[in-house]
Amino acid sequence: MTTTISVIGTGYLGATHAACMAELGFAVIGVDTDPAKIADLSAGRLPFYEPGLPELLRAHTDGGALRFTTSIAEAADADVHFLCVGTPQRADGLGADTTHVRAAVAGLVPHLRRDALIVGKSTVPVGTAHELQAVADALAPEGVRVEIAWNPEFLREGRSVEDTLRPDRLVLGVTSEAAEQTLRTVYKRAIGAGTPVVVTDLVSAELVKVSANAFLATKISFINAVAELCEATGGDVTDVSRALGHDARIGHAFLKAGLGFGGGCLPKDIRAMMARAGELGVDQALTFLREVDDINMRRRHRVVEMATDELGGSLLGRRVAVLGAAFKPLTDDVRDSPALNVAAQLQLRGAQVRVYDPQAMDNARAVFPTLAYADSAADALAGADLVLLLTEWSEFLELDPAQAGDLVAQRRVIDGRNALDTDAWRRAGWSYRGLGRPRME
Ligand code: NAD
Repeated sequence: MTTTISVIGTGYLGATHAACMAELGFAVIGVDTDPAKIADLSAGRLPFYEPGLPELLRAHTDGGALRFTTSIAEAADADVHFLCVGTPQRADGLGADTTHVRAAVAGLVPHLRRDALIVGKSTVPVGTAHELQAVADALAPEGVRVEIAWNPEFLREGRSVEDTLRPDRLVLGVTSEAAEQTLRTVYKRAIGAGTPVVVTDLVSAELVKVSANAFLATKISFINAVAELCEATGGDVTDVSRALGHDARIGHAFLKAGLGFGGGCLPKDIRAMMARAGELGVDQALTFLREVDDINMRRRHRVVEMATDELGGSLLGRRVAVLGAAFKPLTDDVRDSPALNVAAQLQLRGAQVRVYDPQAMDNARAVFPTLAYADSAADALAGADLVLLLTEWSEFLELDPAQAGDLVAQRRVIDGRNALDTDAWRRAGWSYRGLGRPRME
């Protein structure tokens, strides 16, 4: 019977996974190389914003089922080890940097005193699990057998607790019946509640995750390409999208035109998938992902162009309120954030930009320290010549356009997420521009 779980890497994914495993009744030890993160987590403090997670973390650190350490040796006695370390884009190319997953395995394995299952959850280039098995085989102490499995993670930041406790599917990439049974025991509750399970080999499990993200990115860029056509013809992409989505074969999800995708997953995962295809000699299979990426990046430039256009051709000295810094609502994650990218471009072109985000201010300041930050949405709006909605937090969608209008110098808004109540803003005297939509006075 599996009772003890280690979670190696306690960032957005790992901290969530560790707390949820404790919630499922396991004794959990979380390991991270970042001492500040471990100090926070050990004290029951979540070092990032994620709805519902602070409560779980506090309950299980207080209750003793969940503890954290910087010492990987302390994880050695666990029955199952989940790898949740980062796999960011490499500094020198499009591929994924797998040094952290290798370091984690190489750090853990020499401490093991009995047979162990290491389960990768990080998103990795196809083939990584096999390479990690070779690392484990080379470093395992005499008489200890280490098996690598891959169980890719599909959680969404902002909904990560729900997604972990009630996933829409479980993918178990295994090389033995015993590993499958162990994972079925870990996920007994979700499986009992009807979560579909796909049992497969290691490479297919790795491929499921990058393929899922590539598909989602493609869907977003597809509708954003249609938005480009709408901009050239006067069409309204929100109507096109709504009509397309009613086709059950297409569906509404991930079909909203706007500023495009960002964050710590989709951009780096499609690039890593392309890079890996190149290494495998099948780069032609995925050249379309380059277009997906380009369409996505073009949206950011388009918003800057629109802003320039709205302000009569020059941004110099003009006051621009940027609402949103996180890459999407319900998270404080600013990795590759489209909102911050646009804010920085506007500033570089001479605008006086003031950014406000309900949760991501500290992270935004750390990444773009030279941008100006407001204390509230109202503070950002004060005296603005132009307002940009770039992250669709409900706080922004619920703004009263009449009250907002009293704060600004000019009632002009660019809705980078096509999320505002267009009629309400126009009734309050705002000129409104969405992406892929006609300008509305
Ligand atoms: P993150 O940067 O928030 O967390 C990674 C953590 O790993 C950091 O705390 C870092 O200090 C730690 N770490 C690095 N090397 C380590 C080592 N050798 N030993 C112990 N800890 C180490 O990243 P994240 O968003 O949690 O993503 C982690 C992985 O999960 C990535 O592969 C990502 O693609 C994947 N993923 C993320 C999400 C998401 O929504 N964030 C969803 C699904 C999959």
